[in-house]
This record gives sequence, structure tokens and C-alpha cells, in this order.
Amino acid sequence: MRIYPVFIPHAGCPHRCLFCAQDKSTSQSVVPEAEEVDGWLENVLPLHGDGEVAFYGGTFSLLPLDLQDRYLTTAGRFVASGRVAGIRVSTRPDALDDISIARLKSSGVTTVEIGCQSFSESVLIAAGRGHAATDNLSAVQRCQNAGFQVGVQLMPGLPGSSSGEALTSLRQALALKPAFVRIYPTVVIEGTKLADLWKSGDYHPWTLDEAVNVCADMLLLCRQVGMPVIRLGLQRDPQLEENLLAGPYHPAFGQLVRSRLWRRALLHASSQEQQLTVHPNDLSDALGHRGENRDWLKKINPEVSLMADKTVERGFLRIAGRDLPLIDLSAQGGHHG
Ligand code: SF4
Repeated sequence: MRIYPVFIPHAGCPHRCLFCAQDKSTSQSVVPEAEEVDGWLENVLPLHGDGEVAFYGGTFSLLPLDLQDRYLTTAGRFVASGRVAGIRVSTRPDALDDISIARLKSSGVTTVEIGCQSFSESVLIAAGRGHAATDNLSAVQRCQNAGFQVGVQLMPGLPGSSSGEALTSLRQALALKPAFVRIYPTVVIEGTKLADLWKSGDYHPWTLDEAVNVCADMLLLCRQVGMPVIRLGLQRDPQLEENLLAGPYHPAFGQLVRSRLWRRALLHASSQEQQLTVHPNDLSDALGHRGENRDWLKKINPEVSLMADKTVERGFLRIAGRDLPLIDLSAQGGHHG
């Protein structure tokens, strides 16, 4: 689904969470007026469309009520004229009481993205979130009961996190059966409290390779249960790159993670067969970012070649005439950086 993002950096946020600097992570650092949003949507929306206008970067449901109304009325006009199909808002789990949920529902909001970040109490406390894991559960369930599509945002790698915690948090999120998840491994941005911890040596971010491995485990778990992962890693932005101090940021992070799953599958398959085949649309991920998997494969087994053939189903690897699913093969391939 096409998303038309409106950034409202830190608008409505009760405080700054340890890791967050929305104004330094995207090139848009000012909260727009509803009239500006109206003008922008008028320009970018098609005459008929099935996308959603999405309010990101703040705590929508804690905005002053008149501003919520102005934004939702503006977006609602474009829904009514068929130029977009719905409205999405992003908010905190503790900012979704029954009155807020009812207001969003009656104002035409269709999707709520909830920044759960972790389901570990100690990680939430260390991240200065100001809400408990039980708020995550309650917010997701009550939004689902109200009929919203619910997305869950997770941040592996916060202080006190580990690969085990990241997977446990994901399992807890999946048990709630959201419509989709987003996964943003933690990075250190200038101006945050996390930056102070990093500078004093009290926080060590994950390396890129660690984050790719953990996120590959998370992606595999999601694929095994058919859960869409609509984003892996922060969106590339020059402002973010300028303010990034440390951590596993990569402009092609999502591809690195998908390619890691292919690498695990190739490791398993290359011990059985020298000619491996994938669908042409999977070839780029299977070969890896800038051919990393191809180079790695050459080193571990120079006889193995990877080809594309459109008779192979997407997400499958053909080994000796048999098409086997990536999710099964990568689960068997283990961790190999
Ligand atoms: S993480 Fe969310 S609630 Fe916390 S400061 Fe950032 S936008 Fe606001």
C-alpha cells in the first residue's frame, strides 16, 4: 500500500525517549500546519488511490484536540473524494485510552501504528519510555477490538537488550496478531540521551553484523507465521546520516537482512548441489548487497553457481531439481556472518 507520510516531529510527545531525535532523523524538522498538509496532499495524491495518509514522528493521539481535528479533517477530505483510502497515525501505547481510540475511529483513522519498541519491562525502563509492557498488550488489543489495522514498531538493541530479548519481544508482539510490524534496530543520534551514554562508554550499540543477524532471525520468525514486515531499518535521510554517531545504520539495511537469510539458505544448499537457482526477482537479494553473498559463496565453495529462472517460485531455492522454501532452508543454515 502506498503511504503518504506527514511528519510531525515530536508533536504530542510527553517527553523525549532516550534514543529519539525525530527532528534530527528526518529532513523535516518543523510540525506542519494543517493547511500545508492540505496543499501537499493536493499535489501528491492521485485522482483515485488506495493509499493512506500517515502521520508519523510524534504522538498523534496526544496532540491538542483541535490540531488532531484539523489534521484528520484535512486528510478525511481526500478520503471522501477517493484520492486516498484511509488515514494512519503513529502513537505511544500509553496514549490510547478508550476516549482517544473512539475519537480516532470516529474521525476516519483506519490504521494505528503503536511504538511498542520492546516487551521487556527492564528495557522499556532503561529506554525512558514511560510506559510498561502491559500498556503494549492493552493498546494493541483495544485498537484491534475497535476495528483498526494495528502495526507494531519494535526497536531491538536498546540498552539492556540482547538477541534473546529481541526475539522474545517479537514473539510477544506476534502473539497479538498485529497486521504488520516494523523493525528499527537502535542507532545513536546526536542530541539524544543515548548519545550521552554512548559518549561516556555506558552504551555499546550492536555492530552492523550483529544487528543484521538478529534482524534476520526476527524476519525469519515473521515469515514463518506470515507476518508482513513493512520496514527493516531507518529510512535513508541526509539529516539522519549527518547526525548519526554510532550503531547499525545502513542505507540498504533491509536488503542486508533479507540477503542474510539467503546466505544461510545457500550455506545449507551448497553442501548438496553446485548449481542453485532462484526466481529472477530474488536474485539481487540472494547475491547480496554489492554481491556480498556471491563473493562469500566463492570463498566457501568456488564450484557453486547461483542462477535465475522464472520457473522457480519466489522465495524458493531450486536444489537438484527440487524447489525448497527459503524460510525452511535458512532456518537450517544457522548463523554465519
Ligand atoms: S520515541 Fe515516540 S514518544 Fe518517544 S520521543 Fe520519539 S516520537 Fe516521541
